[in-house]
Amino acid sequence: MNELKSNKWMQLPRDVLVGSDMLGKVADVCSDLQLGRNALIVTGQKTRDIAGIKVAEELEETGRNVQIHVSGSASMEEVENVMEIAREMDTDFLLGVGSGKSIDVAKLAATRHNVPFLSIPTAASHDGIVSSRASITHNGETTSIQASAPMAVIADTEVIAKAPFRLLAAGCGDIISNCTAVLDWQLAHRLQNVTFSEYSAALASMTANILIDSADSIKPELESSVRMVVKALVSSGVAMSIAGSSRPASGSEHMFSHALNRIAPNPALHGEQCGIGTILMMYLHGGDWREIRDALRIIGAPTTAREMGIEDKYILQALVESHKIRPERYTILGTGITPDAAEVVARTTGVIS
Ligand SMILES: [Zn+2]
Repeated sequence: MNELKSNKWMQLPRDVLVGSDMLGKVADVCSDLQLGRNALIVTGQKTRDIAGIKVAEELEETGRNVQIHVSGSASMEEVENVMEIAREMDTDFLLGVGSGKSIDVAKLAATRHNVPFLSIPTAASHDGIVSSRASITHNGETTSIQASAPMAVIADTEVIAKAPFRLLAAGCGDIISNCTAVLDWQLAHRLQNVTFSEYSAALASMTANILIDSADSIKPELESSVRMVVKALVSSGVAMSIAGSSRPASGSEHMFSHALNRIAPNPALHGEQCGIGTILMMYLHGGDWREIRDALRIIGAPTTAREMGIEDKYILQALVESHKIRPERYTILGTGITPDAAEVVARTTGVIS
């Protein structure tokens, strides 16, 4: 996607379906979008049985030619693999059916192969299920690559409610991170005249605040909880589409999470790390970090290094190195914080003990 398109072009999903038994609607969505006959499904080992096969059957019933590709990792090699299959079968569109990796791979492969892409999440653990960015590993580094937004998002709440609750709680962390992402964006706007969108920022903050206020309604195995989280992830995705950037949903707290991925031997889930990052960065912003911590705690997302299974020393190291992750993205971390300051923020917020 070229520079003009990424900055001035609002690309939004056309159809968004959230509810029970939505997998059964996939063929209707394809007809609505007038997609062609050849469909390539990218799915995971487990998610193939949970949803991939069902989606394939639905499409085959309407006379479509379907191929299923089981994808193991979200790597650049895998994206190229999928593009090769797409070329061979002359696919008209791609479907990513899974918790995250399959969606990232299908999204980028579809963008590069220049065909539409449908996002069918089996879990709601991060905003990549809606956004126009794909998280891809290349040469051992995970980077977020610009891609096209999904043409449609089909979120079956019954399927997602059966996924491990840890994933849904992590999704909440990714949404709550909008709080500090927006503060960082405002700061960058004031200090460096970075392009800022009031509409996008307002939507991103509102989405996080609604979730914080409803923290006690997020419960395991409840379709109503899934619905709330998916709708919030869709709103975050829309905020990013309006901005033409990930700014409204990704600031210093995301840089902290990316730093942990590099440093910690066993990183936690993206949304879990971003949630804890939001507590830490909200402290640095001088905001109400206790409100963030309490909401995450009520939801059942981790609020300490121990709960994430990460040693304290890696938290401190990540804090000191976070600003190096995306140097062009100005945040509250500025040119970095000292090891002493990192210790104060991590201890005061109770992230380390
Ligand atoms: Zn995120």
